Amino acid sequence: MYPGRFDYVVAEDVGEVVALLTQHGDEAKVLAGGQSLIPLMKLRFASPSVLVDVNRIEALRGIEQKNGHLRIGALVRHKECERSETLRGRYGVLGSAAPQISDPIVRNVGTVCGSIAHADPQGDWGSALLAAGARIVAEGPSGTREIPLSEFFVGPFTTTLEPTEVVTEVRVPDPGPRAGGSYLKLERKIGDFATAAVGVQLELDGGGTISRAGIALTAVGATNLRAERAEQALAGAAPGDEVFAEAARLAAEEAEPQADHRGTVEYKRNVIRVFVERGLRAAAESAGAAT
Ligand SMILES: Cc1cc2nc3c(=O)[nH]c(=O)nc-3n(C[C@H](O)[C@H](O)[C@H](O)COP(=O)(O)OP(=O)(O)OC[C@H]3O[C@@H](n4cnc5c(N)ncnc54)[C@H](O)[C@@H]3O)c2cc1C
Repeated sequence: MYPGRFDYVVAEDVGEVVALLTQHGDEAKVLAGGQSLIPLMKLRFASPSVLVDVNRIEALRGIEQKNGHLRIGALVRHKECERSETLRGRYGVLGSAAPQISDPIVRNVGTVCGSIAHADPQGDWGSALLAAGARIVAEGPSGTREIPLSEFFVGPFTTTLEPTEVVTEVRVPDPGPRAGGSYLKLERKIGDFATAAVGVQLELDGGGTISRAGIALTAVGATNLRAERAEQALAGAAPGDEVFAEAARLAAEEAEPQADHRGTVEYKRNVIRVFVERGLRAAAESAGAAT
């Protein structure tokens, strides 16, 4: 099917994007990689009358570490994350999620921030970034605001972003020198969305105790879900098989899967349990924990 009629505007800077969104409100949509928006328009699930293309805005590019956080600009493509040296090791939950998104064609064009703004509960970035404790930076008519990602997703394809706001970057707090992460995804075939997936990050203090654990689940709830009870069970503990198994059991309980053509509720919960346990072991190893 063809999309409905729309006007197409190439914005030169963020100020122009905000002005256009303010002028057109709900009728306008930001166009980044177009890998989710264009299919929705072709199916007529979305019919914006104005598309605001942000692809020429230089200020939205780049992955960099500064002021105690990692910045991923709104035009950073999945492919850039896949190739980035910065997203390995301490930021490994991000680096390991990137190559598991769809196929090279989608990864060449789709953006991290577009994926977050789209808020598909099957999206991989949502969980990887929740595990990493990320915050969204949005620019609107009243200025800039930071939104913890844990308060950003409110339902399937629904966020707390106002129609007049544009996401300019995602910020990931520096996890400290002893950190590691991992993203594990079960898909029926390469390029598919997740049947279930898990993002895990561990941060250790100088004595090797877990100072922060981030665990988030994909495709087993109305949004990407943080497994908060599992995270709490790990905080302050020494890394090890027993505590990892308990956290994995809790995460499986916290998952809210639905049965579908990809599997039953019990099957998906079990995938979550196994992946959380595996992910924690991989994260601990990468953080240099003595388990
Ligand atoms: C065949 C296929 C397979 C896929 N498989 C996967 C997969 O396995 N895992 C996965 O996670 N994703 C998958 N995707 C989705 C893909 O990751 C998209 O790239 C991503 O969801 C959206 O990013 P985009 O830059 O293409 O955004 P767009 O399609 O341009 O926009 C998506 C939505 O976000 C809004 N938006 C975009 N950027 C901003 C911004 N800066 N500020 C405010 N709003 C913004 C748009 O207005 C729109 O509503 C798949 C897509 C396709 C087509």
